[in-house]
Amino acid sequence: MEKLRGDVVIIGAGVAGLYSALLLGSMGWRVILIESKVKSDIGNKVCGDAIGIHHFRELNLNIPPNVIDHRYNGVVIYAHNLNYNITVPGEGVSVNRFRFGQWLLKQALDTGVELLDGYSVIEVNVVENNVKSIKARRIGGGVIEVEARAYIDASGAKPAIRSKVPLEWPIAERPYTTDFNLAYREVIELDKTIDWINTDYASIILDTHIAPGGYWWVFPKRRDGLVINVGLGVVWSSNNNPRRNFEKYIKHVFPGKILHAGGGIVPTRRPLPTLVWRNVIVVGDAAYTVNPVHGGGIGSSMLSAAIASKHLNSALEAGNISEESLWGVNIDYMRAYGAKQARLDVLRMFMQKLSNNDYEWIIKNRIVSGDNIYELGTRGDLADQVIHTLSAFIKLLGKPSLLSQLRIVRSYMKKMSELYTDRYPTTPRELSDWIIRVNRLIEEYTHIIGYERGVLVKW
Ligand SMILES: Cc1cc2nc3c(=O)[nH]c(=O)nc-3n(C[C@H](O)[C@H](O)[C@H](O)COP(=O)(O)OP(=O)(O)OC[C@H]3O[C@@H](n4cnc5c(N)ncnc54)[C@H](O)[C@@H]3O)c2cc1C
Repeated sequence: MEKLRGDVVIIGAGVAGLYSALLLGSMGWRVILIESKVKSDIGNKVCGDAIGIHHFRELNLNIPPNVIDHRYNGVVIYAHNLNYNITVPGEGVSVNRFRFGQWLLKQALDTGVELLDGYSVIEVNVVENNVKSIKARRIGGGVIEVEARAYIDASGAKPAIRSKVPLEWPIAERPYTTDFNLAYREVIELDKTIDWINTDYASIILDTHIAPGGYWWVFPKRRDGLVINVGLGVVWSSNNNPRRNFEKYIKHVFPGKILHAGGGIVPTRRPLPTLVWRNVIVVGDAAYTVNPVHGGGIGSSMLSAAIASKHLNSALEAGNISEESLWGVNIDYMRAYGAKQARLDVLRMFMQKLSNNDYEWIIKNRIVSGDNIYELGTRGDLADQVIHTLSAFIKLLGKPSLLSQLRIVRSYMKKMSELYTDRYPTTPRELSDWIIRVNRLIEEYTHIIGYERGVLVKW
């Protein structure tokens, strides 16, 4: 069997893996990047393609113009019947995912990263409580064994490494089906423009009938409005099938030529309790770095990759790779994004219980403003103003249950936030107690709001 050895092996050439490879390669390490797709297909990811421009700014990433298909001034959020809407300001873009992936790949390869494309990881070899090597099978036959000092699992929502390490390792945590949205989308060249779509904005439609536990979207990809990315996400359950709902409720609204169609799975929960264990780091969707409310994960998966690469560089230099030496990955990630995800996970579970009437009432009565939602999206806080507005409305319109529920949600968002900031373990030794506290809080909260978690996902 062919064998290869490097400093770091990265599994997955999505944005998280490509960005990790680029950074670690430029730091001078011997990086081996393993991807099951062939090179010419890297970047082709089924996605809504929308991202807030602040993500690129925060990463100091100068995106070439040809990687951007279209620009937005914000997002318009509609109630199910499209009668009412709220405009959320904020600069965003529709990314050309293929060109973006190929652009990141080229830069990574220029630093000397070695790409094993067309190889799927099939086996993880754990010796003395560390990953010693992995085996990958090539399309068409042949197995290669690759050994490294550290391993980065960037293999997306169905993780290739952390699903194969010992269950006692906390990165092996098994998720529930309700921790995910199943999504389906088409990129369509329309026969004619659609009246209600403003091409300067991304559109999100909250319809619990069409997209239970998620939403459906129209993200224009061209200024003339004739090319759109349209799709939906639904909470993972045996009753929900996003493609079926797309065909039944959405497709006929957008007659035209399908340029691309496909489905995928999106984690919509708080991050893994730890992104590091032994000599393994988990980044991107494999570590659940997606925003639980809107499902955007391009920016945060790259952020996790940047944080992971910085700490791994120091650990490699010091010649000590372990959860202790890499713990800074958790501290930095939870502070930068994980705590916000944890707060939004609490809100997400509540939102998945709201009805079309609730959403219509909230949007019609302007209980939340576009700025409130922007604040919610960037900081993950439910503004005091929302509770005040609702208190005033109760007298006029009578929604006392919604107000008391929102107060509960806000108090659990705060408790969860504390656990992921001030009370996040400062060393790995404190992790198991902390996990117990997080799980207790979630059990208490889901019991109060009557949220049923699905079943454990079988990998
Ligand atoms: C339908 C849909 C719409 C979305 N819309 C948006 C959006 O509008 N905006 C946004 O910001 N985010 C969106 N997301 C989320 C976003 O796409 C992801 O969060 C992001 O791309 C995650 O990147 P990643 O690198 O972690 O994972 P991935 O992009 O999934 O990359 C993982 C890579 O690992 C490879 N791999 C997997 N297993 C193996 C193995 N065993 N061996 C070798 N290679 C392997 C895969 O082939 C893949 O290339 C959407 C997701 C979906 C599914």
